[in-house]
Amino acid sequence: MSESCSGHGEQADPMVAQESSASALVGVERGVSWWGVANHVIPLLGTMVGIVLVAINGITLEMHLVAIVMAFLTGLGVTVGFHRLFVHRSFETYRPVAWLLAILGCMKGEASVLLWVSEHRKHHRHADALGDPHSPLLAGFWHAHMSWLFVRTYSFDPREVPDLLKRPDLLWIDRHGFKWYLLGLFIPSAICGLVSMSAYGALMGFLWGGLLRQLYVQHTTYLVNSATHLWGSKAYPTADGSRNSWIVALVTLGEGWHNYHHAFPYSARHGIRWWQIDVGWYVIWFMARLGLVWNVRSPRFTANEPPVLSQLEQPEGSPIGHGIVAAPGE
Ligand SMILES: [Zn+2]
Ligand SMILES: [Zn+2]
Repeated sequence: MSESCSGHGEQADPMVAQESSASALVGVERGVSWWGVANHVIPLLGTMVGIVLVAINGITLEMHLVAIVMAFLTGLGVTVGFHRLFVHRSFETYRPVAWLLAILGCMKGEASVLLWVSEHRKHHRHADALGDPHSPLLAGFWHAHMSWLFVRTYSFDPREVPDLLKRPDLLWIDRHGFKWYLLGLFIPSAICGLVSMSAYGALMGFLWGGLLRQLYVQHTTYLVNSATHLWGSKAYPTADGSRNSWIVALVTLGEGWHNYHHAFPYSARHGIRWWQIDVGWYVIWFMARLGLVWNVRSPRFTANEPPVLSQLEQPEGSPIGHGIVAAPGE
């Protein structure tokens, strides 16, 4: 995959220069995104080969553990890093923590912070309306789930990420996004190869902790775009089709409380009731206790009243608009 700039003639020159890495991921603005196709076909094929090898030769405990730990860490990179930190600025942190989260998110298979943030801000700005890159209400389940990544009818928009474009450190991480992705495949392979001292261990680390793990994190994350705009409870009457799904929340480290998220987009906490499992929030809470993050935004409750938004005001300069539009419906 090239890291050169494809360019957008109608855009301002400084923006064109800085969007190079994300544009390179897209390859072409319209038509088939071959990176999008390969990034989904290869994990699927790798998973199938891995299952056949496990059926024939078995699998060891460390192979399972590496896959689980990698799924957890790369999932955190997406939900805590890409989503809650870079898109919504739900909290502040030290630069090395932000770097680590950005790299973990790239390892998941996204490969570009800028592109992810740009598309997700578009989603919030146009949620389930014209301009939303992945609305199942407009274009169906499979479009929202994954096929929007195969056919590029839209493009990375530097106007969505003016804050990130001012960050040379993040631009550097973004420029090397594909290398981080490869590192995310190499690390589990190296660990399993060293623990087992065998080539089979290294191969299974690559297939199980790399590609199967990627397939799992990809499709569970995609359920947030597809399933939680179709099915589940709608606690708050947001202007979009967002829903809460405890099942999706369980497999996405808390992202399934998507109606709450659309109602309170700046909240670091997506599951806003104590019983709504939100692992991403637990991690942010724990990091706050350690002093690693601060200025954490979350809804404020009073007894028997809905959350209030006083702590959720739009961050200065944020390109994202609406949140909750009315009182809770249930
Ligand atoms: Zn949504
Ligand atoms: Zn969001």
